[in-house]
Amino acid sequence: RERSVKNNYKADFPLLANSDLIYLDSAATSQKPQCVIDALTNYYQTQNANVHRALYGLGEAATAEYEQARKKVAGFINSEADEVIFTKGTTQGLNWIANGFAEQVLKPGDEILISIEEHHSNLVPWQIIAQKTGAKLVYVYLTADLNFDYADFEVKLNSKTKIVALHHMSNVLGNILDISKLAELTHNFGAYLVVDGAQAAAHTVLDMKKFDCDFYAFSGHKMFGPMGIGVLFGKRELLAKMQPVEYGGEMINEVSEQSADFKAAPLKFEAGTQNVAGAIGLGVAIDYLKQVGITNIEKVDLDLSKYAKNKLEEIDGITIYGHNHGIISFNLDGVHPHDVASFLDADDLCLRAGHHCAEPLMNYLKIPACLRASFSIYNDYSDVDALANSLKKIKEFFGK
Ligand code: PMP
Repeated sequence: RERSVKNNYKADFPLLANSDLIYLDSAATSQKPQCVIDALTNYYQTQNANVHRALYGLGEAATAEYEQARKKVAGFINSEADEVIFTKGTTQGLNWIANGFAEQVLKPGDEILISIEEHHSNLVPWQIIAQKTGAKLVYVYLTADLNFDYADFEVKLNSKTKIVALHHMSNVLGNILDISKLAELTHNFGAYLVVDGAQAAAHTVLDMKKFDCDFYAFSGHKMFGPMGIGVLFGKRELLAKMQPVEYGGEMINEVSEQSADFKAAPLKFEAGTQNVAGAIGLGVAIDYLKQVGITNIEKVDLDLSKYAKNKLEEIDGITIYGHNHGIISFNLDGVHPHDVASFLDADDLCLRAGHHCAEPLMNYLKIPACLRASFSIYNDYSDVDALANSLKKIKEFFGK
């Protein structure tokens, strides 16, 4: 295939540079730049030792690298280093908040406020905690143009609300919420704001001091980092109250036969051997992100989703649900999105089709599933052109 436009960043990503694949699924996971892949190899080739326990140079150096990665994350999100807990990813972080913090706070009749756009990771843990504590799960719905309804949020927020748990950026509609404003409203009622930052971390500036949210969870693998590493930010005083969900080595001060005393955060949450290579790889991914520049990323995101909207609108029979910040979700009328995705695959186009772990949102939109193209800095207009051309062929094939 002739690629009409050359993209400056694609060369940094070996999987894409060495193939004809048109990767439009960065919202599921981003591709990894060579520098991150090298950091993982380098760790195992030259630095591998367990951290926080070795009294020899190699182990001390690995500990220093791991803690350096924590500082890098803290710098990236504008928080203190002891407010950064390494996790497996967003899902684990959100489950820990629900089980280690919210369960202590919630009483029967209290309310947990979430939105209809939440990913199952920021929805099912709250359903379970609501069932355990007798709290009620309340939903904020969308405006007519499919945006978060701030007016509905203000109607639903009340003195019974104890936890507000919201996405920063939707994985289906691509909209970004105003976290500072939501935090202020939430705190006016004495509730806590938990933010699912899985999609936002690689697309907009993260600033915990400015946001003033209470907890914020995100995943390394969606921001050019490795899989299996993520971050849970919590305000220091709340992490002091929050209970660990896992217990074991390295998170304790002292253990006697009948009881144990835990270290302070963040280590009290990091039980057992950690993903040290992952944390170091995430640090390198952050360096890479900074080098590219969030403003550049935002520009590519907006450019490509707008270009895609215009291109797809030219095709009769395409319904678009959301287009923003590097995400466009749509359907080809009369053809199941799974079939469309299989046909797109035959043209080397990688797109996600399904409910996108947001079944309540699909029900709200009255669709069983949809297709989603999501972009990153290695994509360009030629990728969108290829998508539009392939969709035209599929439409003809199905006689639509
Ligand atoms: N929330 C949102 C909005 C997401 O898009 C995702 C990833 N699809 C998650 C949570 C869960 O992230 P992870 O699978 O990395 O834990």
